[in-house]
Amino acid sequence: MPELTESIAQLIGEFAKLPGIGKKSAERLTYHILRVRKTEALLLAEAIRNVKENVRYCRTCYNLAEDEECTICRDPRRQRDLLCVVEQPRDLIALEQTDVYRGLYHVLLGKVAPLEGIGPEQLTIDALVRRVRGGSIKELIMATNPTIEGDGTAVYISNLLSGVPLRITRLARGVTPGSALEFANKEILTDALSGRQEF
Ligand SMILES: [Zn+2]
Repeated sequence: MPELTESIAQLIGEFAKLPGIGKKSAERLTYHILRVRKTEALLLAEAIRNVKENVRYCRTCYNLAEDEECTICRDPRRQRDLLCVVEQPRDLIALEQTDVYRGLYHVLLGKVAPLEGIGPEQLTIDALVRRVRGGSIKELIMATNPTIEGDGTAVYISNLLSGVPLRITRLARGVTPGSALEFANKEILTDALSGRQEF
């Protein structure tokens, strides 16, 4: 095998750290970058820099945003007394793609997972409780993933809010237990939303 230059070896090493990219793919991507024009290759570098410098969490719902608040929180057409609780921004995107849900969101940024050492204090649950106690929310839809940890997280939150006058529902079980929301198709998510049940 011919000797790699230091820079080439470094880029292969960085690509290989990405999820789902093995050594062979990392090499293929690196040789692709070497082949394309400099301006085109630098667009990738620029895009990586932009997401790292510009993207942050919405101060209200913890969705990804490029301003203090995300585009959903700032949208005056959204129903503001309905809040859907999801684990990750990608779950929010899956629900948005159904085009059915018109309320707001709260992104937990994870799930309670004792075996992985993730407790409620590492999520955005405090902020959620403050938001709900703040008043104007009438219904909270639990849309955590149908896994043991996702269900456990939903139960934990609903217990925390048991004294608050508010309807708590969960997605109907169209989403296969153990599967992830982000991979459910649009029809399943639409049914899960419209068929939601009291928690
Ligand atoms: Zn937001």
